[in-house]
Amino acid sequence: MDKAYKSFTRVSFDGKYWYLSYTYEVQGQVTNGTGTMGVDLGIKDLAIVSNSDVYKNINKTNTIKKLEKQKKRMQRQVSRKYEMNKQGKEYVKTGNIKKLEQRIRLLDTRLANIRNTYIHKVTKGLVRTTPKKMVIEGLNVKGMIKNKHLSKAVSNQCFNKFRQYLTYKCQLYGIKLEIADKFYPSSKMCSCCVNITKRLSLSERVYKCNRCGLEIDRDYNASINLSRYGKNWKEIVYTH
Ligand SMILES: [Zn+2]
Repeated sequence: MDKAYKSFTRVSFDGKYWYLSYTYEVQGQVTNGTGTMGVDLGIKDLAIVSNSDVYKNINKTNTIKKLEKQKKRMQRQVSRKYEMNKQGKEYVKTGNIKKLEQRIRLLDTRLANIRNTYIHKVTKGLVRTTPKKMVIEGLNVKGMIKNKHLSKAVSNQCFNKFRQYLTYKCQLYGIKLEIADKFYPSSKMCSCCVNITKRLSLSERVYKCNRCGLEIDRDYNASINLSRYGKNWKEIVYTH
């Protein structure tokens, strides 16, 4: 891809590192891709693709877990120090507290950078398979974040960012990106016989069809269904 640097736009400093931001123009690459690819997004893995590729959840790696642990420890230290130095009802920010808070900020930046780089890597990997069309779910991220058992895991997956990066990369590669209707039963439908199960709890990792007997990883099943998504999905789903 040809890059033409245009201008430097911003210089920023986070207390340890300096950042230069710049814009550049990229010549779009229109690929002659074939087929439709379905991409199921999740918490167990980040993305499960109908071509059977799986992109892991980076938040389950040791690096991230270790950094999150460090951060928690420092946050506890800070609140302890605030309690210790309390004067009457007033909290006082001591030099040590300032230092710790700065370290927490740096950790946050590092975590954000790791997640961001990973999302770039995954979305790049997806568009490089050059399908003609890609279908992802219409995730109700706001609704998911309201579920207090899931909220942290969901926000750490950065689904909105994922969709944003995927959108512009698809444009760049000339891939049509479609967001499936949120009522499309990608998880509950059997990818073999179009039967729809009544119930499927999040803990059931294997999809079992009680009509044709198919047993398949639930996310993979969903990704296949997404790859078959089209405008006439209601006809296909409700007439079987
Ligand atoms: Zn079936």
